[in-house]
Amino acid sequence: MTIVNGKKGKVQCIDDEILKKLSLPTRNKFLSYNLANFLKSEHLQFLKQAQAFFENFEKDNCITHNEDFYEWVPEIGKHGYISRLHKFEKVNLNYEPYGMTAEFMRILAMEFFDPQLTMSTGATAIAVNPILLHNDDVEVRLRAVKELVTGEKVGAIVITEPERGSDAVRMQTTCEELEDGSFLLNGEKIYQTNGSKAGWAVVYAVSEKNNGNTMAQFLVDTSLNGWTAERINIPWTPRMHIAKEYFNNLRISSNCVLGKPGEGRSHLFEGLNLERLTIVCLNIAEAWNAITHAVIYANMRKQFDKEILKYQGVGFPLADLWAQTTSLTLATLNVSKMVDDKLEQLGTLPKDFNLALGTTASQLKFLSAKLSERVVYECANLMGGAGVCDNTLMQDLLGISRIQEIGGGTRQVQSHIMTTSLRELFKLL
Ligand SMILES: Cc1cc2nc3c(=O)[nH]c(=O)nc-3n(C[C@H](O)[C@H](O)[C@H](O)COP(=O)(O)OP(=O)(O)OC[C@H]3O[C@@H](n4cnc5c(N)ncnc54)[C@H](O)[C@@H]3O)c2cc1C
Repeated sequence: MTIVNGKKGKVQCIDDEILKKLSLPTRNKFLSYNLANFLKSEHLQFLKQAQAFFENFEKDNCITHNEDFYEWVPEIGKHGYISRLHKFEKVNLNYEPYGMTAEFMRILAMEFFDPQLTMSTGATAIAVNPILLHNDDVEVRLRAVKELVTGEKVGAIVITEPERGSDAVRMQTTCEELEDGSFLLNGEKIYQTNGSKAGWAVVYAVSEKNNGNTMAQFLVDTSLNGWTAERINIPWTPRMHIAKEYFNNLRISSNCVLGKPGEGRSHLFEGLNLERLTIVCLNIAEAWNAITHAVIYANMRKQFDKEILKYQGVGFPLADLWAQTTSLTLATLNVSKMVDDKLEQLGTLPKDFNLALGTTASQLKFLSAKLSERVVYECANLMGGAGVCDNTLMQDLLGISRIQEIGGGTRQVQSHIMTTSLRELFKLL
């Protein structure tokens, strides 16, 4: 068994020298050089600090990226790399820097280290948002936030059902209020990232089937009786846990009701923009990781006595993918800055801005998911056999980039949102 590039390949296919250059520290350097001129110094410093953390973590633990990454979460959380979207002062963490741009940097650094870990952590980070927003100083809710952000527990966000995917609002899972203000949940959910590993979950249900106006939102301790989760096999992300859950008279006490029936729908949509933007960051990070592999490889691999980058068939398409990825990165950095500025000035996103951001987040999600899939595939293709064997993280990237158009609202749903906006804009003319 050979350990190469922090990745255990059964048989080494790539030359020693090239593999060494494909290591995490070299790839991190390539990313930093690309972004250095566009970032505020606090964000560049944070990126480098996070990169250094993951480089040491990989080295100290002899990580090969075949492991169960859920075991790493407590250590990563202890060092503050599960979410940087908020300062988390309510739970005495006081992260600096924090916000959308800092979250983008966190995602980039973690993604270069391990793509599947990063997608899983994204689900935990998304689950934290509604609990933090609706904590109302309730002890159990604050405890859940802290346990999730510090990696003591993993989180899941539980919306999709076997019969309700894109049509998420008309749910079948029911919640019935009892006299003491607690609720009984019954139904089934499917495709939840981390579902079978989660300690805390944010679950949506309706008091009347098919009626989204009766939707409620709950914080669920998954050790409760009535919660069962089965791991689903998604072959493109073999190390991630994605699950189907069953609720059988799952009793939720009143202090874990984040939104009563009638409030759940607006709770579901209020955080969607920032959640979608974090998915955009993830997609872009995947594209950068693949480009970095391909650029290093193409600069070193020789065929017909010349580095393959020098052939137009390799160098030109690679430059094209690089240009597209850089452009989308700059667009996302710009939007992230606007979000950070508004939050800093006003403490919240103004209604009109948030409305416009909905379309922007859809546009970016649509483009970045497509970009990730194309860039990763093309980079693998440009690397020849080295791009598709199991010696590098390209293998993980090839799998994960193929599911990004589905999660977080499918490509067609994003198109639908954008078309609706075009109609609304036309009506203003
Ligand atoms: C890897 C992965 C992780 C996920 N993580 C989570 C999670 O953490 N939490 C969670 O709750 N869910 C999660 N999901 C679920 C995801 O959000 C849904 O899969 C997605 O919303 C689509 O639902 P569906 O699979 O039922 O497909 P369907 O809604 O049945 O769609 C099937 C096809 O029909 C298209 N379609 C549907 N309606 C329309 C329309 N009106 N116009 C045009 N086309 C349409 C879709 O775009 C798609 O191509 C995850 C899914 C995957 C694959």
